[in-house]
Amino acid sequence: MLARIAGACARSGRSPDQVELIVITKNHPVDLVVELSDLGQDVFGENRDQEAKPKSAALSELRPNAQARWHFVGQLQTNKVKSVLGYASSIHSIDRDSLVAELSKVLTRNEQQVDGFIELNLTGDPGRGGVLPENLGQLAEKVLQEPRIKLRGLMAVAGLGVDARSEFDRVLAIQEVLLSISPESRDLSLGMSEDFEAAIEMGATHIRVGSAITGPRANNA
Ligand SMILES: *Cc1c(COP(=O)(O)O)cnc(C)c1O
Repeated sequence: MLARIAGACARSGRSPDQVELIVITKNHPVDLVVELSDLGQDVFGENRDQEAKPKSAALSELRPNAQARWHFVGQLQTNKVKSVLGYASSIHSIDRDSLVAELSKVLTRNEQQVDGFIELNLTGDPGRGGVLPENLGQLAEKVLQEPRIKLRGLMAVAGLGVDARSEFDRVLAIQEVLLSISPESRDLSLGMSEDFEAAIEMGATHIRVGSAITGPRANNA
């Protein structure tokens, strides 16, 4: 895995320390997280609070000295915000005003900060997670009004059966809107098991890789 990341970096003239590997451990038991932690991996991602909360707690208990950081990458319901902010240092799925308001409320109460990515919905279907590109500017303004959320940049998931490079090209075009409002929010959370090399070559700063590292997920685990 590290060799493939290094290869993609070399092809695109980038340094591997410009790319953060987030290992997505959803549907895998904490034993796997412990194993990865013992190997030196300390950045993990999950998409459901029900699973992430006990898993992150179990890792802290089993490896109290591990410096694990948890990224929350799934759709986030407002009633889960308080729980998620109990362990996550980064939220990749900011996609609506009501979520920003709730994050703001809990962060203020806890006197806490979080890194945030705005998730783009590339499907055109408003029922899916993420903000539609035409609403990005307005949402970004909202996030920027909340000093407790450090807006890192954009997150997107390439659609199934769609060419990942053309999807990432769209993200780069849409990113201009964000950079015109917030030039420092230039991080890109792009790329999963199937397309992380393309994502790196196109400028991803964060890749979210699950099954290529952890093996196939059991659906009912
Ligand atoms: C599951 C998931 C991933 C990782 O997917 P793989 O194909 O297993 O690498 C990345 N991002 C999000 C948002 C996910 O839900």
